[in-house]
Formats: sequence, C-alpha cells, structure tokens
Amino acid sequence: MDLGISGKKALVCAASRGLGLACATALAQAGCQVVMVARRPDVLAQAADDVRLASGARVITVAADITTPEGRAAALAALPEPDILVNNAGGPPPGDFRDWDREAWIKALDANMLTPIELIKATIDPMIGRRWGRIVNITSGAVKAPIDVLGLSNGARSGLTGFVAGLARNVARHGVTLNNLLPGLFDTDRIAQVVGAQAKNQGISFDEAKALREKSIPAGRLGNPAEFGAMCAFLCSNHAGYITGQNILLDGGAFPGTF
Ligand code: NAD
Repeated sequence: MDLGISGKKALVCAASRGLGLACATALAQAGCQVVMVARRPDVLAQAADDVRLASGARVITVAADITTPEGRAAALAALPEPDILVNNAGGPPPGDFRDWDREAWIKALDANMLTPIELIKATIDPMIGRRWGRIVNITSGAVKAPIDVLGLSNGARSGLTGFVAGLARNVARHGVTLNNLLPGLFDTDRIAQVVGAQAKNQGISFDEAKALREKSIPAGRLGNPAEFGAMCAFLCSNHAGYITGQNILLDGGAFPGTF
C-alpha cells in the first residue's frame, strides 16, 4: 500500500533502538525524510545507517537528550517544521511509590509527559498552517491497564494521554491528527533487560523466563518492533486522516477487556 507520505519530513525521538527505531524505519520505507534523535552518537549513527540501507531515504541524526530543553532545541534546529512527529523517550524505572520523592516524579513527568507536550507545542502550529500533520506518541499499555511497579509511568503517561485527548479534538478540523500507540510486550533491548532480571530473580534461564512471559500473552509471543513501526507509519499516512485522539493498544491480546 502506498501510504501517500513520500517526501514528508518526520522527526522521530528516541530512535536509535527498539520501538523508536522501528517507527523511523517504517516512515523512511514509506518515503519520508527522517530526523532521528537519541543520546549516544555511535549507536545512533549505526541505526541511521541501517535505516538508510533498509529504505534508501535521507536520514539526519541528532545526538541529544530529548528530555532536556537543549536536546529539544537541537532536534528542532535540525527539523524546525516536521510534518510528522513521533514522541518517544526511555521509560521511568520501576519501584515503590513510597521511595519516590518530588525529583523522581519531575524526572518521569519531564520525560514522558512534558517533553512530548513541549515538542507538540513547538511543531503543531506550522502543521495547522499547512493543513496537514501527524503526531504519534509512544506511551504504554500501562495507560490502559496499570502496572503496579510502574507507578511513575502509569501517572506520567496518563497525564499526556489526557492532554492529547483534548488537543486532538481541537485541531482535527485543520488536518492534524494526534494519536497514542500503547505497546504491550515488544522484543526490544528494554524488555530483554527486564526478562533477564526476572530470570536472575527466579533462578531460571533467560529462555525459560522469556517463554513464561510469552505464555502469558494470547498471541503466544512478544511483539516484533517492525509490527509496531508499521502501525506508526499507517497512523502517519494519508489514509489515516480520520483517526485522531485514539489510544491504540498493540499487545497480542494481553488486555482482557472487550473494548
Ligand atoms: P529501548 O530501551 O529498546 O529503546 C529506547 C530508545 O530511546 C533508545 O534508542 C534510547 O537511546 C532512546 N532514549 C532513551 N532515553 C532518551 C532520551 N532521554 N533522549 C533521547 N533518546 C532516548 O526501549 P523500547 O522498548 O523501544 O521502548 C520505547 C518506549 O516505549 C519506552 O518509553 C518504554 O518504556 C515504552 N514501552 C515499551 C514496551 C516494550 O515492550 N518494549 C512496553 C511498554 C512501554
């Protein structure tokens, strides 16, 4: 399917690995010019080469921490007026809320709520002016079904979700859509670390721990990041102009509700 976005300019945050990289790859394969942001220049350069190889697209890299004002300024200097914005950053650490002080909360809010809002604020008016724009926020299945040890994530991402719900309706008439993608369990470095820690805790092998996680998912497997990237590219496509303000769960059927 031709997604109808060849030549569009996309800013993809936290794009050197995992879900962000998958989104950058799928958008590049759809013909977009892509600016990829991540912190480590070496990892980012390798990821950008992989995207170029997979797509032949023009790819620019910005080595920056997107959760800081300086990092966002660097990203926006490379692409001041993106047609497509994919918001993403690392997730907050797990823990017990009794141990989290104000600083821990501010850090989580900065990364997973205020950074995407700042980037939306900086880019949405030109999208409105051009009467075309796509904003996708990578959040988490935890927004729909909270995970107790991830209280920082549950809280910060729910704040973003509420904000986006209001803004999406406000700008829909201008051809700009905002949607959130909610990953369940995807096979990325982050999940490999989590499964590795579980294996250690339970005194079992990594493969055994992974099999246990897979068994708990109706699809019987972890998600493939490419599946996530494909959904992101579709939401950013010309065909998805009537989809806005949605929270789309990609979890292999793990959420047990009817809706
Ligand atoms: P990952 O660890 O595989 O990749 C994270 C990427 O973000 C890397 O490219 C890293 O360099 C970049 N990054 C992190 N912090 C950054 C920052 N401050 N500035 C710039 N770049 C930064 O993670 P992932 O599995 O791809 O997850 C992406 C997001 O989705 C995270 O917020 C994660 O919590 C969330 N999530 C993932 C899953 C999953 O199953 N993988 C499930 C639920 C939620």
